[in-house]
Formats: sequence, C-alpha cells, structure tokens
Amino acid sequence: MECCLCEDYPRTGKPLFMEDTIVAISTAPGESAIGIVRLSGPKALKIADKIFISKEKKKPSSFKNRTIHYGWISDRGGRKKSLSDKIIDEALLSVMRAPATYTREDIVEINCHGGVLALKKTLELTLRQGARLAQPGEFTKRAFLNGRIDLAQAEAVLDVIRAKTELGLGTALGQLRGKLSKRITKIRNILIEVLANLEVSFDFSQEETEALNSRQITRSLKMVKRNLEELIKSAEGGCILREGVMTVICGKPNVGKSSLMNTFLKEDKVIVTPIAGTTRDIIEDIINIEGIPIRIVDTAGIIEPRDLVEREGVARSKKYLNKANLILFLLDNSRPLSAEDLQIIDSIKGKSIIVVINKIDLKTRLNLKKIEDFLKGKRIVKICATREKGIPGLESNIKKHILGGKVKMDAESAVVTNLRHKKALEKSLEFIKASIKNLKERKGEELIAEDIKEALRSIGCIIGEVAPEEILDKIFGEFCIGK
Ligand code: GDP
Repeated sequence: MECCLCEDYPRTGKPLFMEDTIVAISTAPGESAIGIVRLSGPKALKIADKIFISKEKKKPSSFKNRTIHYGWISDRGGRKKSLSDKIIDEALLSVMRAPATYTREDIVEINCHGGVLALKKTLELTLRQGARLAQPGEFTKRAFLNGRIDLAQAEAVLDVIRAKTELGLGTALGQLRGKLSKRITKIRNILIEVLANLEVSFDFSQEETEALNSRQITRSLKMVKRNLEELIKSAEGGCILREGVMTVICGKPNVGKSSLMNTFLKEDKVIVTPIAGTTRDIIEDIINIEGIPIRIVDTAGIIEPRDLVEREGVARSKKYLNKANLILFLLDNSRPLSAEDLQIIDSIKGKSIIVVINKIDLKTRLNLKKIEDFLKGKRIVKICATREKGIPGLESNIKKHILGGKVKMDAESAVVTNLRHKKALEKSLEFIKASIKNLKERKGEELIAEDIKEALRSIGCIIGEVAPEEILDKIFGEFCIGK
C-alpha cells in the first residue's frame, strides 16, 4: 500500500532544473597525475561531440555504452578543423549512458592531465557548449532526485568521503548500501499498515472488530517503538563514529599542551617553546584511537591576555571548552599547583574531564592536596609528553571515558551515525508513544492516526520520502563541487 503522505513529495520525475547538463572538475584542486571533468545530463554527449577529437575519428555520441576512448580536447567549436588547431589536452573520454549511471543521466567523464590550466580550459569549453557549472553535491542530488539512492544513502556518500577511521568507513558503506534505509522502510511499512487498519475501524465500528483491531494495532505500535528505541540507542556510538569526539587539551601556559598535541599527531604541527603563550590560536586535528575519531584541539593557555591577539585566542579557547565532549586538563608535575591551575579548574568544573599530569620525567613539585575534591572520581593519567611515556595509557583512558563501558562501537551495531537521523527518530518515537497512550485511553481514531502520520513524516525525512527543499540544500551544500 502507498503511504498517503508520499504523494506530496514526489522524488522521481524530472524537475525543471534537471533539463540542463551540469559539469564540474571532480578531482581535488591542485597538480596531479590526472584530473577529471564530469558532465551529467541530456546534452552530455552532444557537448562531448563538440570538444573531443577521438583517435578513431568518431563522435562520442556514437561510442558504445561504457567504453573509454583516447583523443584530444580541442577548441574546434564543432567545426572540422585541423588537429593542430587548438589542442587543449590529450585525454581519455568515457561514455556512460542513462539510466545505469551515478546520476541516472547520461554521463561523460574526461580524464585530462592533472594540470590546473588544462582542466580549467576543458571545463570552460564545456560551459561554452551549453553545460552549467554544477553546484556542490549536485551529481549526488540528481542521483537522489532520480530515485537511484535515497537521502540517507546520499548522505552516506559524504560520510564515505570524510571517514576518518576504518570503522567509520565501514559504517558509512553499510549506510550507502541501504542498511539504515531498509530498517526505516520496514518501520514505515508497519505504520502504513496500522493506518490502513485504523481506517477499517472507522468504517466498521462494531465492538468486536474494534477490540481485535486495537490489540493488533497496539502490538504493531509497540514493535515500532522497540525498533525506534534500538536505532536511537545505536546512534550513541554511531554519531561518535561520524562526528568524532571533540577533545580539548587545556592547562596553564608551558604545561606541555602543544607537546602532547604533537605526540598525539606524531608530527611537529604545533610550535613548542619554553616561552609561555606560544600557542595563540586553536589547533585542531583528528586522531584515531582504536577506530574512534577524536577531534583533538590544542587551546591557547588560559592566561591574562597581553594583547588583542591573545585576548581573541583566550576567548576562542573558552568557546571550545564549552563545546568539548571531553577535556584533557594538564597539570605540570615539576611545578607547584598555582593560582592559574585553580583558575582553570574553576572554569571547567562540572565538565567531562581526564586529569593529565605531565612532565613525570622531572622532579615532582606538584602537590594535589588542595584539589582533592576536584579530583575525586576522575581518571588521573601520568605522562611525559616529550618522551611519549604514558600515551597508550592515556589513549585507552580516553576510549574508556568516551564509551563509558556502555556504548557499543562497531560497524555492525552502529546503524545510525547521523545526528539529523537521530533527531528524526526521537521525534518519531515521541509520536508513537503518544499514539500508544491514546489508544490505551481509547481516544478517537483520528487523533491516533494524526500521531502516526506525524511519526511517518519524521522518519520519512531520513530517507527523503519527505524532503523539504531547505533540508536538501543543507545536506547537499556540504558536498564538494563535482560530487
Ligand atoms: P604549552 O604552553 O602548554 O603548549 O607547553 P609546550 O608544549 O609548549 O611545552 C612547554 C615546555 O615544556 C617546552 O620547552 C617543552 O619541551 C617542555 N615539555 C613539555 N612536556 C614535557 C615533558 O613531559 N617533560 C619535560 N621535561 N619537558 C616537557
């Protein structure tokens, strides 16, 4: 049975803007061995005819599907001219005809040499011949709008590109292959059936039928509730895999924050000097701790700023501390506890913290008595950042702290990895709970049907059955041009 909501949001069929042919350089900017200019749309082959001279002197529109041809990109404007006229590059051109392509449209890919100029000129040629420069993510958006993939799968494309760990990649690939979409579709189908049963209740309101229906509907709704709860639970670890865990290193100047950052990154990314206040801005990078992407941030030491730049650095540090999922608070083993340490403790109290005592290679002058209360119940790890001692212990403490012994973190259990999906599931769950309650209290079928429709609407947003334009713009706007 078709969902009554779906017809409001047709996904297939051709919206106007898809009448045109889009083009983009699909490889990363900069010099490389090859670079790819990709065309998609009804005029892709015609445009290729005008700019490509194949060795076999045939037009691309006459090439067999899924073949690749050697030739030259030329500015001959479709007229027959000599080869030497205006050759822009030597290239390989592949032809992929609709519908079995990435976008479900005709696609032409031109493998040029990876020089910036050759690629740019080839792109310009296609534009002159009637192509339009693609918007970010527009190829994938067409794959979605043409019904080849759903919205969750389109988002997974970006997750595959951005995956920081193998685990993250595995989860993204699962989503791309439709793992989440299948679960959502299953839930939607149950709800659509419940709606149909409710309508039967409207029509035949004899008591017996009603009671039977009500039991069946309650059972189905409870099953949906369990499924939604399970998916939301999987987001605990899943979202960490996708978004990473924002971990901020803080501590007074010279305590070894930048040294620890460099040790984590295994490179000298941050300048380390004995002069206090060297790090004046925020340095951020991603490290991989047993498959968990950690967005590690080195902050400017929280000190009294001496100038405008330092003031801005300190303000930004505070912002990051507020956003942090985890704070690594550094103390210096070689110096007594100072007013600066206490000031920082004051500003991070109540947050999720691991206390890191650095410089254990030096004589201990640190006395923790004064901050016993603050330390109570916290993980305390001792390290020497410069000699890389205690780092594995610190990493395993970070992992334990994040997972809290509860969150499952593997590609199998992490079905939901996207905060947008999690929010939609939570919203849907609220409506399902309301519908169960209303059913129990024998409220009117119309009210229950409304709840179920809202629940359907919410999870429909995940796979794009219900996809307001602003959500699409936001999602595809995050892609790079050419994807
Ligand atoms: P930040 O201001 O907190 O970023 O501190 P830095 O990382 O710039 O380090 C300040 C100074 O302490 C530098 O001279 C580092 O070489 C030194 N340092 C950092 N960690 C250690 C350590 O574990 N042992 C010793 N002996 N020196 C360290």
